[in-house]
Amino acid sequence: MRFETRAIHDGQEPDDLTGAVNVPVYQTSTYRQDAIGKHKGYEYSRTGNPTRAALEKALASIEEGRFGLAFASGVAATIAFFSILKPGDHVVAGDEMYGGSYRLLERIVSKWGVTTTYADVDDPSSFERALQKNTRAIWMETPTNPLLKIVDIKKVVSIARDRRIAVAVDNTFASPYFQKPLLLGADVVVHSTTKYIAGHSDIVGGAVITNNEALYEQIKFYQNAAGAVPGPLDSWLALRGIKTLAIRMREHERNALYLARYLSTHPKVREVYYPGLQKDENFNLAKKQMSGFGGMISFELKGGLSAVERFISNLKLFILAESLGGVESLICYPARMTHASIPEEERLRCGIKDNLVRLSVGIEDKVDLKDDLAHALSFA
Ligand SMILES: *Cc1c(COP(=O)(O)O)cnc(C)c1O
Repeated sequence: MRFETRAIHDGQEPDDLTGAVNVPVYQTSTYRQDAIGKHKGYEYSRTGNPTRAALEKALASIEEGRFGLAFASGVAATIAFFSILKPGDHVVAGDEMYGGSYRLLERIVSKWGVTTTYADVDDPSSFERALQKNTRAIWMETPTNPLLKIVDIKKVVSIARDRRIAVAVDNTFASPYFQKPLLLGADVVVHSTTKYIAGHSDIVGGAVITNNEALYEQIKFYQNAAGAVPGPLDSWLALRGIKTLAIRMREHERNALYLARYLSTHPKVREVYYPGLQKDENFNLAKKQMSGFGGMISFELKGGLSAVERFISNLKLFILAESLGGVESLICYPARMTHASIPEEERLRCGIKDNLVRLSVGIEDKVDLKDDLAHALSFA
């Protein structure tokens, strides 16, 4: 079956007991046992809950993986992947990533005695050069946050092959509708389901999907042992989001392409980063690796911080907020918001300048969105 059909049906079969078309919200922490050790597959909701189980099945299906695990947040899913590491292990990570993932590597994973080397996302061979004998994991994000660079998943996978290195891709920006890293050879996909998958800015959640049974067992063990699981209502909201993921992603992309083209001709805009623009250096790779370009745009204004402030304060539709991937359009200022936890020098080296803003283009009417940008840019 194709994506749109699986997204509505897999894991979301009508309820056996009542025929309810939607998976019930099993708001329960525990389950009656018929006799000691005799139960229906559920004992305690940290370990397993039917609403979460439905979500995990749906997540695996839309990523075309065998196993899905749901978490209480994207960072909980990320640390669950890193839990496969032990003291003395080494990680190679792309040098442009979500600030919270960098913070995990630098402040938490490092305390386990695991070291990280950052590879240049513009140069896949730098991943190879960064490898050490003790490298056990490669962590990458594509498109990257916030400059929307595209990393060649197949190339990075080929570097790791035959070396017992688990390659994980944070697929949050593309969503499984536009990119399926497991089909390109990645071992693990991680999501912040907070973003496109749930899609309505109403929950915080995460996911890990894999085809590798041994990795699945390890990460599932960690999920239960560390306990950062989503509650039944949040699981249900993510399930509902998955049903409309395909149509939302198509609209996000259509609007983003329209706005990216508009911005790239605007006299007050210095540079637009959107992989769907033909002149973007990532266009060809994005076209090959993804089935669409997504709904995120970053751009630099010609003016400095005060121009950015005037621009943002005059927007009426775009909401100044962290996060992305919801139906409503958001704007964010990476230097002070999502990437504030990265030291300034490191941030500037990665090209996250003080005049950079990031748009999460929603599914409102595209002309209304353009008019809002045009009006606010007149103040920049
Ligand atoms: C938001 C985000 C995360 C973290 O997810 P949370 O749900 O906020 O914990 C990880 N990676 C990317 C790319 C994100 O955008």
